[in-house]
Amino acid sequence: MCGWTDFDDLKYKYYSREEWGATPAADRRPIATPVQYVVIHHTYLPAACNTTQQCFSAMKSMQDYHNSMGWGDIGYQRCTERALYLIYSFSNLPAACNTTQECFSAMKSMQDYHNSMEWGDIGYHFCVGSNGGVYEGRGWNVVGIHAGRANNHSYGICLIGDWRVATPPKTMLESTKRLISIGVENGSISPNYKLIGHNQVMATECPGTALFNIISTWNHFSTDVAVFKTVAKNNALS
Ligand SMILES: [Zn+2]
Repeated sequence: MCGWTDFDDLKYKYYSREEWGATPAADRRPIATPVQYVVIHHTYLPAACNTTQQCFSAMKSMQDYHNSMGWGDIGYQRCTERALYLIYSFSNLPAACNTTQECFSAMKSMQDYHNSMEWGDIGYHFCVGSNGGVYEGRGWNVVGIHAGRANNHSYGICLIGDWRVATPPKTMLESTKRLISIGVENGSISPNYKLIGHNQVMATECPGTALFNIISTWNHFSTDVAVFKTVAKNNALS
């Protein structure tokens, strides 16, 4: 499940898809490596829904998530599309996870939601929990669905939780840095990679202001995302 490095070198606990109970991926398009960009995310899901279909998916996702918390049903009494939008605006799902079991539930919840959007799998390549554990999403070999036109050129790493105001725990940040350096060591990530936040390539609050302020101090942080605007303009996404 992780032949690219020695477990002793990981310095964090790594959980494969099998361990957190992923369903098989329907989308396994190979990604061209080494990848030039790493995109950092938080979880703030489901996002606002703008169509009935999107809202249906959001409701199913919330029910799945709430069921996974042992609540027996979706927790909200009544969700009109407008109410749903408001709920999303002030809720964060999944919330930060502090135990392996909570993080497994968060991973399953995200995979269910992303599958309901017909993305064929959880969108991110890897997720990191508050306890510093790293959870395998799509892994190093396939294209993710996490950053629009940057998908084909980046890995998406999600720090589980809402980091608009709260600051991620140090161990979570250290695992994220270590994960990126392992990607460089195994040839998946270019040594000259650029680190960016989701909000630099799409109109979103993700990865949250508090987290964004932190990653903007890290090595390789870049404001150079002009390439993606060119890609959009020329419709030249490969
Ligand atoms: Zn994001």
